[in-house]
Amino acid sequence: MLETLRRIVQEVNSAPNLESALEVLVSQVRDTMNAEVASIYLLDYSQKRYILMASKGLNPASIREVSLEISEGLVGLVGVREEPLNLENASAHPKFRYFASTGEERFQSFLGVPIIHQRKLLGVLVTQRIEQKRFDQSEEAFLITISAQLAGVIAAAEATGAITGMNLGSEDKYVSRFTGIGCAQGVALGTAWVHRPKAQLSNVPDKVTADIEGELVKMDNAVADVHDELAAIAAKIATSLSPQEHALFDVYAQMLQDQGLVGEIKLRIQAGNWAEGALRFVIERHIKQFEGMDHPYFRERALDVKDLGIRMLAKLQAKADNFIVTQPSILVGEEITASVLMDFPSEYLKGVISIRGTANSHMAIVARALGVPCVMGLSLLPIRTLGGCFAIVDGYRGEVIINPSVDLKRIYESIVLTDAELNVNLLSEQDEPCTTLNGVDISLLVNTGISTDVALAKDRCTAGVGLYRTEIPFMARERFPSEQEQVEFYRHQLAEFAPRPVTMRTLDIGGDKMLPYFPIIEDNPFLGWRGIRVTLDHPEIFMVQLRAMLKASVNLNNLRILLPMIGNVFEIEESLHLIHRAYLEVQEEGFNVQMPPIGVMIEIPAAIYQIGSFAQRVDFLSVGTNDLTQYLLAVDRNNSRVADLYHGYHPAVLQALKSIVKDAEKHRIEVSVCGEMAGDPALAVLLAAMGYRSLSLSIAHLLRVKWALRRVDLQQMEKLLEEIDSMDNAEVIRSYVEYSLCQSGLDQVIRFNPGVRISNEI
Ligand code: PEP
Ligand code: MG
Repeated sequence: MLETLRRIVQEVNSAPNLESALEVLVSQVRDTMNAEVASIYLLDYSQKRYILMASKGLNPASIREVSLEISEGLVGLVGVREEPLNLENASAHPKFRYFASTGEERFQSFLGVPIIHQRKLLGVLVTQRIEQKRFDQSEEAFLITISAQLAGVIAAAEATGAITGMNLGSEDKYVSRFTGIGCAQGVALGTAWVHRPKAQLSNVPDKVTADIEGELVKMDNAVADVHDELAAIAAKIATSLSPQEHALFDVYAQMLQDQGLVGEIKLRIQAGNWAEGALRFVIERHIKQFEGMDHPYFRERALDVKDLGIRMLAKLQAKADNFIVTQPSILVGEEITASVLMDFPSEYLKGVISIRGTANSHMAIVARALGVPCVMGLSLLPIRTLGGCFAIVDGYRGEVIINPSVDLKRIYESIVLTDAELNVNLLSEQDEPCTTLNGVDISLLVNTGISTDVALAKDRCTAGVGLYRTEIPFMARERFPSEQEQVEFYRHQLAEFAPRPVTMRTLDIGGDKMLPYFPIIEDNPFLGWRGIRVTLDHPEIFMVQLRAMLKASVNLNNLRILLPMIGNVFEIEESLHLIHRAYLEVQEEGFNVQMPPIGVMIEIPAAIYQIGSFAQRVDFLSVGTNDLTQYLLAVDRNNSRVADLYHGYHPAVLQALKSIVKDAEKHRIEVSVCGEMAGDPALAVLLAAMGYRSLSLSIAHLLRVKWALRRVDLQQMEKLLEEIDSMDNAEVIRSYVEYSLCQSGLDQVIRFNPGVRISNEI
């Protein structure tokens, strides 16, 4: 069954359009299940009716003619209940509805399953037999599995407008509008610039070429290079290869000939596609063919074809310049990483769209620091066709609009202006102290990592740096920076802010933070080798960093060292041991350094219960709410499917934060918050009400948070905190807090969202 399923899914996915995909599916389902009928009814939301879209077994003339009301007939019943319906005698069921044009009176048994994508009902898949006998359990399970796979295909077709010609879908289906997660506020307009990670076949778009000869030459050169590369590998390992293994190289060599794969690629180039597009097309087709074969030997060959395809693509792309940008652009990609973002020419970077990721991904953190609006988590975005299209990124509402109308463009241009005006307003208070109405001073520090942060933070009168993410400068290099290189960039950071304190976090890699030259490949990276776990295993890397930080602090004496991902006291003790060793070494070398205060991040739930033990060993605590929320709620901070479960107002998160600040007071240890929660004005007010007196946040949010804190009385906010104590629903808590703060006059910055105000217009 599994094999058949795999084959059907592959055929459906490779169909050229939705119509043929549905055709393939009904034929395959009917044959596999030995049924007389297989049909698909899709729900047209604008008409509120099911339409028979494809069938094998019912009268072909009834296709797209027969339709049912939303709760009509057995199909309607399956949809309303959202569960399978398995009947041996369908016509005896009170909901049975007979359509003369289908000829279905002959069929007795009925099995219908709903087609659901991300909780939305899309239609119903039905099989019928003449024999009066219920479908068995395994058949029911098979149909449910097929339906779940089909749901993704239909949803994608709906989103891209592929269902357009079928009089189906919701009212706005013709608008190229995609909903994701707003990860950096603001609105941006520009031309989509699609980033393609090198040598990733699936990201190569089709492009018409005017220079067919040139593309053919490029292809020939790439083939020759791959040929040489393979010959060199074969020669190098010739003695350790068995004859069978050596035969693999012969297979590759054959594929690289004009009579093989390469010949087909050239035919597509001659038909007008550029070399990379032609390569992708042919390789993907061959992979599918091999993968669809029943014999395991041939299925394995799919991997060989893929390997060869990637090698040729790498050669084709080797000379291509990734970033030739000449106009205001929206950077778009399957998964834009922080380093890709930082590499993009900043003068043209207006917005970012990333299919994968969420507001808590590191790329989003960098986008916010740069003040670049960003939307992520758009699984249905047709990325291959976007290059060169005009795009709007609405970071407030988490929306992306492709090829907007002139009116829509005008509306969004006016939002850009409104944003700029608000910023001017906020800027007028940049030199004012951050003191609440009842006279409590809150220290606002900044999170840094990229150079723009530093320039802005200096101007905006911050209390210093609460979190310098040292991994960011490491990411922008091609190897580990030497001790001297590190001394230079740490010194720059310390000198820019001196005498204000700069808290430097030791290297926090792993999870979603990868160094291109030190890949960590794990099944479960967020629970794996991350942060301090990596650096304690690599004292040679850790020691160089510590020594560099200490040397950089000579005569400035504003360094503080912060340790990430601490889960137990042994990690603290081992780290302290190395820090003291580095300190002695550096002193022995003649540097007049002071021992800096040492702190730990509270970002693993286990740390919440060890505040007392930590307080005996270090000087300060810094709460990393990004990871703390992820681990407390067991919600991957990068996974857009579960992004709505990642919630700063979750009662468990709020209780944890209260408990940390209380325990820190009890054990007389300084505590601050450096996660993204501190950058949300409403949450920042709550944190202050809990007792946090020091917040470190992205520079992009600093003025809004200050504006809010300067307008609240913390005694009143403590009452608000008590009120929400009895509430148990994160969304209700959020609405209540935001509503209360808006009532107190903070509406400009709490949920500052022009998109909400203009939603009727667009
Ligand atoms: C955090 O986890 O909250 C934090 C500040 O660290 P990072 O986002 O770099 O993991
Ligand atoms: Mg963290």
